[in-house]
Amino acid sequence: MKVVQSWDDGVVDDIRLADLLRRHQASATFNLNPGLHHAGRSFSWRYGDKEVWRLSRDELIEIYAGFEIANHSLNHPNLPDLSPTDLRREVQDSRRILQEWFRQPVRGFCYPFGGFNPAVKEAVRAAGHVYARTVTECEPILPLTDPFEFGVSCRFVDPSFWTRYEHAKASDGVFCFWGHSYELVDEAMWAELEDKIARIGADPAAEWASIEALF
Ligand SMILES: [Zn+2]
Repeated sequence: MKVVQSWDDGVVDDIRLADLLRRHQASATFNLNPGLHHAGRSFSWRYGDKEVWRLSRDELIEIYAGFEIANHSLNHPNLPDLSPTDLRREVQDSRRILQEWFRQPVRGFCYPFGGFNPAVKEAVRAAGHVYARTVTECEPILPLTDPFEFGVSCRFVDPSFWTRYEHAKASDGVFCFWGHSYELVDEAMWAELEDKIARIGADPAAEWASIEALF
């Protein structure tokens, strides 16, 4: 079974997350919005009692070194609402900028808010991506009928995480979990995530992969 994980939005808690994943030699995909990273870290919103900050432009390369970077659009709009011109800009310019920044191919896309329609899918494909991740939960994830509707197994905090993991393992399929590191609001949650990562790493039937490696 291949295990992939997908983390969205490029927030400051990704620093701790990326360190944790490196310690466990776990692959991951980070979905970024290049239009929302500025010279300094920027306050984005509140998540409960917590302030969510985006990383600064200059620290991205070092923080995400070694991980798959995927395009999450330029500014995180709901893509089905956009005009064709704005849609192209959000999808195509964003991919170009990420490839310039990271000097690596950006092959994946992740729909902001999970929002897509046929025009959005076509814009993502035309911009050179090979897959696009949705927030649709499905079992099994593969085989795909459409690489621009790549589904997920569950969120990282899903109570049925291990049940779904075992289902994917039983069919030697793919297990994909996703989330945002800002959802980790206390030490107990960080410890629980680290336990999951360690347990997957110790499972001889599981192999970490990037999402792009599935295509
Ligand atoms: Zn997002």
